[in-house]
Amino acid sequence: MSDPELGGLVTEFLLDVRPHIVDHSLRTYPQEAVGVLYDNPVGVYPLINQKRSATEFWVSKVLVEDALTYLTSTERIPVAFYHSHPTKTADPSPTDLELIKTMSGLSVIHGVDRIAAWMWSIEPSNGDGGVGRLVEVASVPLKPLETPNV
Ligand SMILES: [Zn+2]
Repeated sequence: MSDPELGGLVTEFLLDVRPHIVDHSLRTYPQEAVGVLYDNPVGVYPLINQKRSATEFWVSKVLVEDALTYLTSTERIPVAFYHSHPTKTADPSPTDLELIKTMSGLSVIHGVDRIAAWMWSIEPSNGDGGVGRLVEVASVPLKPLETPNV
């Protein structure tokens, strides 16, 4: 079951942070951009894509922990990890999906068609540990100059 209240909040956040995402994705093009989206105020904490690739990203655990430590020490609120798809839609790749399954929070993807926030949702089922499924919590459209490959 989707959560309309969460969807509304995430849509608002994506609209606020969209210019920061677009700016970072364009600066990083043609490589995939990767970073942490935060609130209070909204912004992007850029991470280095250690794969230096147009179709993949990787960031070491140490760099991620440094980013989260910095953000929380400056009263900012980490909201989601994000990366860009310079030539593809905002739908998760098979690799993205495996990563999203391991994360408790939101994963945001800036594709050529939209910016979308994804979450792996575990729903209770009879007797077993629950059934997981991919949920698109919210998405916002892009204006003509906001795709990652302008
Ligand atoms: Zn991806």
